[in-house]
Amino acid sequence: RAKAEGRNTHRIFAAAMDAAAAERRELESDLRRAIEENELTLHYQPQVTTGGRDLVGFEALVRWQHPARGLIPPSTFVPLAEECGLIMPLGEWVLRAACREAATWTRPLKIAVNLSPLQFQQADLAERVLAILAEAGLSPTRLELEITESVIINDMERALSILRRLKALGISIAMDDFGTGYSSLATLQAFPFDKIKIDRAFVGHVEGSPQAAVIVRAVLGLGRSLGMGVVAEGVETPHQMRFLTDESCDEVQGYLVGKPQPIERFTRYIHGAGRTIVWSEEGMTNAA
Ligand code: C2E
Ligand code: MG
Ligand code: MG
Ligand code: MG
Repeated sequence: RAKAEGRNTHRIFAAAMDAAAAERRELESDLRRAIEENELTLHYQPQVTTGGRDLVGFEALVRWQHPARGLIPPSTFVPLAEECGLIMPLGEWVLRAACREAATWTRPLKIAVNLSPLQFQQADLAERVLAILAEAGLSPTRLELEITESVIINDMERALSILRRLKALGISIAMDDFGTGYSSLATLQAFPFDKIKIDRAFVGHVEGSPQAAVIVRAVLGLGRSLGMGVVAEGVETPHQMRFLTDESCDEVQGYLVGKPQPIERFTRYIHGAGRTIVWSEEGMTNAA
């Protein structure tokens, strides 16, 4: 009897696996088509200085406008793209679209683009990025590439040589989600980062958790001693904003300042003349 039940469970499990595999295959072929047929789209999230609240630039965040399933977040399809070999074309699509968009801006704001660790398997990554910049007509100094700690861990020598070439071109490099991975302080020092982005897991808890506040202060100290700027991710409340201002964090990004949205929503900030303060406690305003 136990055996029969075991067989039955096994059958049900196998059927569920088949269904999941079929669903995955379908999503995979959908994604291949999406990249070719421009179903991907970018949302942009503002990054501002903590003290002056001046617009520094935007982070480009990819979304998939699926014809049947609606807007799919990157947490669903970026890992899929990484598993099925589509991350290279996806990554290039994002970079090309973001650079083209930034090239139309009348102020020299930064555009930050996320790179998958797998893109570092391409030894000619720096050359590919340069070709995309040239094609878009965007200066390399306007581009910031966001990478995670796993890039360093996978193949440190190759990553370092690619990052040095990117830096030599004038591109800046940010370490994303800092504090959630495993890299040591020594590796952080060995890498030519311009910025450290403190993960929102810590930023989001500076009010309630003394440990989170300690970690945020420690990362700010680290950034200062290594000569790297520090960006706080996921700032959602005025209290968090005040904490970061008091602690002299360089830049902030989060729902409090602005959610990721289509670039049209930010037109008046991007094309404003001179110094444009985009954020106050009342929300985004144009105080040029
Ligand atoms: P990330 O690079 O750390 O991006 C920040 C994520 O936090 C974004 O989620 C953003 O919408 C969200 N966020 C920003 N401010 C707040 C806040 O105040 N509160 C909360 N709760 N969330 C906030 P999103 O757009 O869903 O992206 C998730 C992740 O997907 C990104 O994390 C990045 O790792 C990856 N990703 C997004 N676009 C790309 C891309 O073009 N290429 C690659 N390789 N990865 C991407
Ligand atoms: Mg990022
Ligand atoms: Mg992040
Ligand atoms: Mg992340």
